[in-house]
Amino acid sequence: MQFNNFQATPIQKLSENVNNNTFYIKRDDLIPISFGGNKARKAVLFFENIERSSSDCVVTYGSSSSNHCRIIANIAAAKGIPCYIVSPSESSNTTSNKKMIELFGSLVTECPVSEVSNTIAKKMSDLRVKGYKPYFIEGGGHGDIGTQAYVNAYKEILNYEASSGMYFDYIFHTTGTGTTQAGLVCGKILNGDERKIIGVSNARKNPYGGQVVLDSVNSYLLSLNKELIDSDAIAFIDDYILEGYGSYNDKILKTIKSVLINDGIPMDTTYTGKAFWGMKEYIMKNYITGKRVLFIHTGGTPLFFDILEALKNE
Ligand SMILES: *Cc1c(COP(=O)(O)O)cnc(C)c1O
Repeated sequence: MQFNNFQATPIQKLSENVNNNTFYIKRDDLIPISFGGNKARKAVLFFENIERSSSDCVVTYGSSSSNHCRIIANIAAAKGIPCYIVSPSESSNTTSNKKMIELFGSLVTECPVSEVSNTIAKKMSDLRVKGYKPYFIEGGGHGDIGTQAYVNAYKEILNYEASSGMYFDYIFHTTGTGTTQAGLVCGKILNGDERKIIGVSNARKNPYGGQVVLDSVNSYLLSLNKELIDSDAIAFIDDYILEGYGSYNDKILKTIKSVLINDGIPMDTTYTGKAFWGMKEYIMKNYITGKRVLFIHTGGTPLFFDILEALKNE
């Protein structure tokens, strides 16, 4: 698998118009590895690190909807290294991601969410006892390496602006474990920019959700010996999570259908469609007008196919 030399992902204009703002989308869903997405961008850097550390198997964590687990499972299979996934039994319904994880031959251990950290620790020590050198990747590709992936994405945005002569006043995206947001915010800080980066949460609430982003930003800045920031610098919006992870409503389905029909771009109800809807609500609520807005499509295409029936009936 040739996986670490992909080009900058495309940025394209959308036909969407809310309050006289213009909308662009950065197509990280088109990263050319295992259906792309932000987890592919992060996974590439994790596997570089795995090779440097000469580990011989990988352990990670995620639900049955996890795009992260699908991509880690795919690259591990390509490299011929065993992949162990710990998964919470509370969200273990059948999805396209889950089917692919099985197809890639990953070994999944399900346990109650309260048992997850013990189960991971046990898996790591069992593997070590058997003589393996396991590499652990936090759920969602969290950590400085994941943050680095979106510092890199931020550089792609700067390059696009330099070559097109246009400037994005706002960057919106779905925020989950917060690593994507942390990388974008670090990119902005390192470049001394003023624009707003708004993470629309798909599940976590404040203060926890925003605090995790802040901790990730400061961990990364600390590794570079830069000045740390405080919570005012983080816009983590939890107004659109509904009943939490995976929950959605008719407005989200309508939003997804409209972007699919008008621009030919698939989104899903757990991540991108939910945040795209949240972004539009936020823009109206805050009377934002006349701005150039960039939405980052963080991927999850297999999840789009899981909701196709619901979408058709909408
Ligand atoms: C994981 C994921 C997110 C959230 O990214 P974080 O870096 O965890 O905040 C957003 N969109 C999609 C499609 C994802 O799979």
